[in-house]
Amino acid sequence: CGIVGYVGPQNALDVVLEGLRRLEYRGYDSAGVAVRVGGADSGELTSAKKAGKLANLEKALADSPLPEATLGIGHTRWATHGGPTDRNAHPHLSADGRVAVIHNGIIENFAALRAECEASGIEMASETDTEVVAHLLAAAYAEQPEGPGRFADAMRAVSRRLEGAFTLVAAHADQPDTLVASRRNSPLVVGVGDGEYFLGSDVAAFIAHTREARELGQDQVVEIDRTRGLTVTDFDGAPAEPVAYTVDWDA
Ligand code: GLU
Repeated sequence: CGIVGYVGPQNALDVVLEGLRRLEYRGYDSAGVAVRVGGADSGELTSAKKAGKLANLEKALADSPLPEATLGIGHTRWATHGGPTDRNAHPHLSADGRVAVIHNGIIENFAALRAECEASGIEMASETDTEVVAHLLAAAYAEQPEGPGRFADAMRAVSRRLEGAFTLVAAHADQPDTLVASRRNSPLVVGVGDGEYFLGSDVAAFIAHTREARELGQDQVVEIDRTRGLTVTDFDGAPAEPVAYTVDWDA
């Protein structure tokens, strides 16, 4: 339902929680966050998720805080597949814990994709349609050659296989400065700050930080990278131009 992503010098958890608060107006039944911690070669993802109000998540985070991080994602969920439980809340992690994904919408062909994951020996940790995306991304990433754009290539490969409506944002433990996101039939906006980038299901997610917005078109993938900046393509990798605009309403 509500999506926030952040890469930059600020503490990612603060930025993400602030964004989620501003998206509360959309309604939701659970909330969760994930941040990436560790050095370039020793990264890990750590997450927290709770059914109920954002206050429940904030209380859980107060009891067991997440470390400072420069990359993070957050989600408020409106359940469509699987009840509103802690387990079904986003982010969803791949079986190896290296990929975290948040999702708005419905993956219509999730049952077939889940059967495929289960056939390869993966045990599902939730009842959601979303979780398959984390497993597929981890597998697609492993198949891509190393180098810039590797994670975005994985996101493009997975996006080509998905049916339905989705805004997806994903983080990888091996990628200290990069978030990737994808959209079809569901909105995705990038916020461009000074040495920092934001992702949101709408501009409310980052309005406290920047007014420079880029709206993605249908069937596009974006990579935000602290050093390389913003790269937008279609699902096949052909360069695409997002619509640039400046948000002019008062926060
Ligand atoms: N279909 C997903 C789920 O039920 C995402 C729902 C949403 O848009 O929040 O977990």
